[in-house]
Amino acid sequence: MITLKTPAQMAKMREAGRVVAAMLEECRAAVRPGITTAELDRIAAEVLRRSDATSSFFGYYGHPIRREVPPGFPRTICTSINEEIVHGIPSPKRKLREGDIVGIDAGAIIDGWHADAAITLPVGKVSPEAERLIGVTEEALRIGIANAQVGGRIGDIGAAIEAYVRAQGFTVVQNYVGHGIGRAMHEEPQVPNYKPARGHPNPPIGEGLCIAIEPMVNVGGPETRTLEDQWTVVTADRSLSAHFEHTLACTAAGPVVLTVPGKGAAVAA
Ligand code: MG
Repeated sequence: MITLKTPAQMAKMREAGRVVAAMLEECRAAVRPGITTAELDRIAAEVLRRSDATSSFFGYYGHPIRREVPPGFPRTICTSINEEIVHGIPSPKRKLREGDIVGIDAGAIIDGWHADAAITLPVGKVSPEAERLIGVTEEALRIGIANAQVGGRIGDIGAAIEAYVRAQGFTVVQNYVGHGIGRAMHEEPQVPNYKPARGHPNPPIGEGLCIAIEPMVNVGGPETRTLEDQWTVVTADRSLSAHFEHTLACTAAGPVVLTVPGKGAAVAA
């Protein structure tokens, strides 16, 4: 069931979104060669503690796509390096190295309301290809948000993302998708980053729909594998992958991004 949120509910999600933005910004400031992904996790957890918020990810069990998941996710954030697409588990054994790219995905809950966002960052100096992948994926997110218009359909978002990414010579992951968000991190509808096939769900975008758009873009093929830890998703061909995500509210005035910093009103795209 797709639920539409009231302005008061969106305001709660905006509070959670501000916390998520702070988690990501503090991690961004800390990313450098030599830091471990467990240290990034600790930085994000400290932002939550300070904000009286909790993690959307810690202890997370059911995934809307993967039913066979291990007991709850063990950390506050996900950190996914190079060929890892999403759901990497922060570890004290995993040090970032010069030339890596690292995806950081964070979710926060305030008064039962969720927000979810992700960024991919270069670690020191990275290859021109890695830099271009990051830029294309971030632009794909911006294009997706611009297409989340009341009166349109969910499929408009993925169609625009896919067309842009293909034109850049990269591929879009299809096995994992964006999602509705609100009282739960993963709500209906699914928000694919590709054009829905004929006959597949393509619901209308109603006023008050809140969704997380999250393109995952690969240098090589779109196929995925899950590692033995049963969480970390990698590219099947081990090519580089990047991931950007925002939570937004679809309003009559256009899409409003909730996962941005600052005290004021959220930013209209
Ligand atoms: Mg998400």
